Amino acid sequence: MERKIIKIGDEGLRKICKPMQKFDLRLWLLLRDMADTMYKAEGVGLAAPQVGILRRVVVVDVGDGLIELVNPVIISTEGEQAGSEGCLSVPGRRGYVRRPQKVTVRAQDRKGKFFEVTGEDLLARCLCHEIDHLDGILYTDKMDYEITEEDEEEEEEKD
Ligand code: ZN
Repeated sequence: MERKIIKIGDEGLRKICKPMQKFDLRLWLLLRDMADTMYKAEGVGLAAPQVGILRRVVVVDVGDGLIELVNPVIISTEGEQAGSEGCLSVPGRRGYVRRPQKVTVRAQDRKGKFFEVTGEDLLARCLCHEIDHLDGILYTDKMDYEITEEDEEEEEEKD
């Protein structure tokens, strides 16, 4: 079931989320709703606070299938990438944000089992972006500058 996405300006996006301790039906329904909401909005990631739940839960799909992350922590990073980034909670805007090129995240799955996932390029960017949400951080806090429509047109001309 799709849930409503909270937008920038709402205090709920600025809270530190609590760890998830119970891996029960309530979590599974949240994960299902978060995936539904992300796909419907055509996003590549969604964090629980974006649907008003202040828990450390994230879903990501950059085109290689759904990844569910409970209590995710970035355990290593490598390199740097710089590029355009948006957010379902910041509609119609994009910013130029520097992120690690590669990250490894340790998290728990829907049953509480620990696992690690390593992502490069877009997946690395997405993991960093979503995990920031769990600490009340938006990409707009970290961007070098806002990307305007003219900038995007220039980008297209280069291609
Ligand atoms: Zn976001």
